[in-house]
Amino acid sequence: MNVGDVVGKKGTAVVTIAGEATVAQLVALLAEHNIGAVVVSDDGHSIDGIVTERDVVRRLADRGADVLSQPVADIMTKEVVTTDLEQSIEEAAHTMTYSRIRHLPVIEDGTLAAIISIGDVVKYRIDQLTDERNHLLEYLHN
Ligand code: AMP
Repeated sequence: MNVGDVVGKKGTAVVTIAGEATVAQLVALLAEHNIGAVVVSDDGHSIDGIVTERDVVRRLADRGADVLSQPVADIMTKEVVTTDLEQSIEEAAHTMTYSRIRHLPVIEDGTLAAIISIGDVVKYRIDQLTDERNHLLEYLHN
């Protein structure tokens, strides 16, 4: 069971935003797509940073509503932790838990290929356990 299995289920769509976009535009994008994180990328392939709802909340608390007109690049995290399709789910979940991050962009051939969240990993695991349980019940009743 690896990151590629989760990506196979959830898909490869990644919402990105340019670093020069405003935080207000970022908030609109998070709401529009019902997501918690956006990869910051000027070309949609390379990763310049990552910005999540937590960054917005923290900066709003620090700087007040003025932050809404500031560029996303000013509030993003620049050192991005990534994963790849071959990494095991256990390793990816461990990284997210101990780095206290809920999102991992997936890199393939040096470019942005997908993103997984801790929610995707938990959902994948629950689906898998449910399938296993159903197979066992079927086996017992036949
Ligand atoms: P999250 O739990 O994903 O909302 O992120 C919490 C904090 O970690 C925020 O400051 C994010 O910008 C940062 N963050 C989230 N994902 C990553 C990642 N993959 N690499 C580095 N920082 C991240």
